[in-house]
Amino acid sequence: MWNSPKVGILGGGQLGRMLVEAANRLNIQANVLDADNSPAKQISFHDGHVTGSFKEREAVRQLAKSCDVITAEIEHVDTYALEEVASDVRVEPSWQAIRTIQNKFNQKEHLRKYGIPMADHRELVENTPEELAKIGEELGYPMMLKSKTMAYDGRGNFRVNSKADISEALEALKDRPLYAEKWAYFKMELAVMVIKTKDDVLSYPTVETLQEDSICKLVYAPARNVSDKINEEAQAMARKAVAAFEGKGAFGVEMFLLEDNSLMLCEIASRIHNSGHYTIEGCGMSQFEAHIRAIMDLPIPPKSLEIRQPSIMLNIIGGAAPDTHLKAAEAALSIPNASIHLYSKGAAKPGRKMGHVTVTAASMHEAETIIQPLVNVVDDIRA
Ligand code: ATP
Ligand code: MG
Ligand code: MG
Repeated sequence: MWNSPKVGILGGGQLGRMLVEAANRLNIQANVLDADNSPAKQISFHDGHVTGSFKEREAVRQLAKSCDVITAEIEHVDTYALEEVASDVRVEPSWQAIRTIQNKFNQKEHLRKYGIPMADHRELVENTPEELAKIGEELGYPMMLKSKTMAYDGRGNFRVNSKADISEALEALKDRPLYAEKWAYFKMELAVMVIKTKDDVLSYPTVETLQEDSICKLVYAPARNVSDKINEEAQAMARKAVAAFEGKGAFGVEMFLLEDNSLMLCEIASRIHNSGHYTIEGCGMSQFEAHIRAIMDLPIPPKSLEIRQPSIMLNIIGGAAPDTHLKAAEAALSIPNASIHLYSKGAAKPGRKMGHVTVTAASMHEAETIIQPLVNVVDDIRA
């Protein structure tokens, strides 16, 4: 048996909280670096937590001192701090992987060398209307203007429909490093959770994700109406993309399925991911436990990553008032086989992820029928 290992986690949001849940069951102490009342710390009582931010060098140093291995629930961390402590403590995945992935443009330039298909894109150097207009001529309209860094939940993306939108787009993303992407005409968005271990690159089955206003709303596991061949191809592409990076742990790979059934990478996250929350109820081993096991070099039987029952995950997102999301949670109490996860983030803001619900059933059709009333409640809250 392992000897009271300690895992350090940069970030104590909902992903950190679910990592703590998994670590707790394995008697692994998770030391969290974040504010004192962060969601992850609320469910973990011991004296190993560190108060501060994952962007502060000194706080990362302090965390590293007390852990056997450190990891991150978010890619927007200070990778220079991680580089510095890497000589004293294991950092998983590697700081190099996190540094490359946290800049979406660099991430894509790196993956291009490995032959991963993705939307054609161009870097902006001057962020001027003239420069973007020239790129628009090359990529065509619509195109997606994207921030290279600090992007999440679509905050960092601006759809440029025509030349007339250029000044508004540059204003919306001003002072950020930018690149532009050719529009991907996808029929579906897919995602695969990949688990990189010391000797293997494993994957969970391919799921379907549905974004609303660029925020993930629903995840269907497995993806609906997708052939076994595409399911396999998507997993293979995701594993190949993740294999291009150093280090162990969970990686979320987002993809587009195009009209001709070809696949294109959207982006990679160097961490546990919203598209993998269904694994808590839907699979033998959750993405959170798989991440902990991977970074601790504990065995992961590949069979544990298979889907036990079709699952649908619905995000509970903040509405107009600070507590409107609780209406969705209350409604979920009466839905059969609905597992409710609230993140205890306090007051909601519109668009903020406050929790999620997963329904599992004998068939996908049954899961869809069961969850529909709850989807209606969520739609009412957002409307
Ligand atoms: P996340 O919360 O997943 O980290 P993000 O802010 O990093 O999101 P992306 O994943 O790049 O942003 O894009 C968000 C969504 O915008 C995608 O899921 C997709 O629906 C849409 N999108 C992104 N790029 C394109 C594209 N090139 N063409 C069409 N739609 C796109
Ligand atoms: Mg992203
Ligand atoms: Mg994304």
